[in-house]
Amino acid sequence: MNLIEQWIRPEVRAINAYHVADASGLIKLDAMENPYTWPEELREEWARLIRGADVNRYPDPHARQLTQQLSSVMQIPANAGVLLGNGSDEIIQMLALALGGEGRTLLSVEPGFVMYRMIAAFSGLNYVGVELNAADFSLDMETLLEAIDEHQPALLFLAYPNNPTGNLFAASDVERIIAASPGLVIIDEAYAPFTDASFMLRIGEFDNMVVMRTLSKMGLAGLRLGLLAGPEEWVREIDKTRLPYNINVLTQLSASFALSHISVFEEQTAKIREARSQLFKELQEIAGITPFQSEANFILVRTAEGEARPMFEGLKQHGVLIKNLHGSHPLLRDCLRITVGTEAENRAFVEVLKMLLPAASSRPKT
Ligand SMILES: *Cc1c(COP(=O)(O)O)cnc(C)c1O
Repeated sequence: MNLIEQWIRPEVRAINAYHVADASGLIKLDAMENPYTWPEELREEWARLIRGADVNRYPDPHARQLTQQLSSVMQIPANAGVLLGNGSDEIIQMLALALGGEGRTLLSVEPGFVMYRMIAAFSGLNYVGVELNAADFSLDMETLLEAIDEHQPALLFLAYPNNPTGNLFAASDVERIIAASPGLVIIDEAYAPFTDASFMLRIGEFDNMVVMRTLSKMGLAGLRLGLLAGPEEWVREIDKTRLPYNINVLTQLSASFALSHISVFEEQTAKIREARSQLFKELQEIAGITPFQSEANFILVRTAEGEARPMFEGLKQHGVLIKNLHGSHPLLRDCLRITVGTEAENRAFVEVLKMLLPAASSRPKT
């Protein structure tokens, strides 16, 4: 008898584990991390603070000080409810627990953030992924509105800007989706530091819209901290699915410390935005690849047919790790995703790319 087959739920067995590539020794442009570390003085001050942490005690269960700082830095409306997660991934899971259940549906767009589908699968929610328009990855409104009508989703996730395509959906389209949705619409603003667009100030304008943020892409991926802001009544219920003390003592202290030095991170993200424009221009000038405009800290690139994998492997052999998206979705044929790094990292990437491209164009097509 196979105990695994008998007891592990079939939907869990069917999932492929979330794959993280080994980046040892490589220039890491695969995971949308902020490439900059902290200035030395800041590290010293932080180390002193951590030395005083009482890890024998449970953390503040509501992380009150940190929540207040987040509300101020992220301009969360005063009347909104806020809950914190161990990364926004944990918040997606809380939402699935709070609004899931037999026969309920989570709807999102494809290609989109893979955790929506994964969490739907292991929480027993039906998952519906509506394809974006192939030409520019904008929302296919007709199909989306039909799908909302047909599936009546309890949860509808839109990443704004979208990952892995990098574009922002039209705000007017998003508004129509919120209006047409019977359930809760979650605007996932993981890439907020890299765009001026946001729904944060519009919390309360709709009775079924909440906004999710994370500190990961801003520069604190290692701390794991995300938040959900929305109408107080929604947040209070969703918060019941949060495990006690989910934000540990060290994360509370460190994130709070980082937020009190927010200008350091604002300077870093401003530099990344500048580097993004520069990298986009350079990629546009290289024959044989097409970059897509991005409002996030990464750029999606389409290569010539059949070249994504060899280019990914070639880059890796020359010390640069990016993300190969070819094969993950039909609309991402021949696509690679490059996280914007430091100027030096981006230059190294472009140099290797240019070196690889002549070889690519002379290779027989398969
Ligand atoms: C990276 C990312 C997240 C997850 O962020 P964590 O807070 O690190 O869990 C959520 N949504 C989108 C769209 C992302 O790209």
